[in-house]
Amino acid sequence: MAGKNRATLWIIFVLCMAGGLFLLQQPGDVPPGARRPYPSEVTVKYVADGDSFGAEEGHKVRLLNIDTPEYGEPLSKQAKARLEELILGKDVSLAYDREKKDSHGRLLCHVYVDDVWVNKLLVAEGLAVVYVIKPNLEKMSDLIAVQNAARGRKAGIWSLPVPLPEAHYVRSRNSFRFHRPGCKFARGIPARNLEKLSSRDEAFGKGLSPCRNCRP
Ligand SMILES: [Zn+2]
Repeated sequence: MAGKNRATLWIIFVLCMAGGLFLLQQPGDVPPGARRPYPSEVTVKYVADGDSFGAEEGHKVRLLNIDTPEYGEPLSKQAKARLEELILGKDVSLAYDREKKDSHGRLLCHVYVDDVWVNKLLVAEGLAVVYVIKPNLEKMSDLIAVQNAARGRKAGIWSLPVPLPEAHYVRSRNSFRFHRPGCKFARGIPARNLEKLSSRDEAFGKGLSPCRNCRP
């Protein structure tokens, strides 16, 4: 009888140990998404500027296919404030194109909150311009369409004074940047890739964005 009791206690002891080990292997209090390299949902911890933010889970996110004015430029504060208003402290959904990270390790994403596509809204409100980098072209045409409408209304960025015009502009067919003809980057474009543009309007209409060097 004593031997049978001992055996029973032993079996209970082994089962308890196994259960304990099983519980230790559970993820417990690790925040959702923390260990996933490309999460589909994060919580916004801080907004860095009009087109980037940091997540509670540790990821940094760059809004894909758009560019907002840099610090110190007109409308940069407004763009940051608008992004904060839209997403700060909220759970947002992330969608990726072909290239999921930039050279700074930031996730490249289309961001959605309460069914609002944030990248598109900032372009529609004239607080961001379309900024395309190959090979992330999937949603480019939707963004160009809302940018054309914002240009037509002279919303935000499109109400600012226009830089001194050139007789024409140029781009490489491999790139979505456009340049003044005298820009050092324009001079480096091989003739076979060189495309002439008659105006800034034509360039923006094609979804091109101005070079940061020659600021056309
Ligand atoms: Zn340039």
